[in-house]
Amino acid sequence: MTCKTCLKKPVWKFTNQIQLCKNCFTNYFERKIFRTIRKHNLLPKNIILKKSRDTNTKVLKSVLQKKFQVKTGKPTLKSENLSDLAEEIFQNIIKGKFKFKIQKSPLMDLSDKEIQLYAKIKKIKGNIKKRNPRIQKLFRKFMKKNPDLEHNIVNAYYQLN
Ligand SMILES: [Zn+2]
Repeated sequence: MTCKTCLKKPVWKFTNQIQLCKNCFTNYFERKIFRTIRKHNLLPKNIILKKSRDTNTKVLKSVLQKKFQVKTGKPTLKSENLSDLAEEIFQNIIKGKFKFKIQKSPLMDLSDKEIQLYAKIKKIKGNIKKRNPRIQKLFRKFMKKNPDLEHNIVNAYYQLN
């Protein structure tokens, strides 16, 4: 198997089996962030990210800086990714809470795996967020049968709220 568009060696495989090489993955990843920003109208007047060493924030900063001026401080833009949101939603649901707010972020359609791959390709070093081990164990089990689980959880949340 080769990259869908340029026939180079793939580094990423989507759940629909389509594969991308390093360059095409990087393009896909960056375009996804800008598309999410447009789709949800997420851009504040001043883009301020929290000062943090976590991989999400460092990756987001480096992508946004391609087009915008980005400052750090009291954040006007969140940096939680898809895996963060799925875990947070699931954590609320198992406590019986169905009405709660999650905050949209430019990374809300990108998973831990995608962000870690992008960080590796771009040599961005950051801290990986600690996850709830019980929830992640369960997610891993489900994701063998349903690799889109995290997307499904976030979509279900928006249908409920
Ligand atoms: Zn390619």
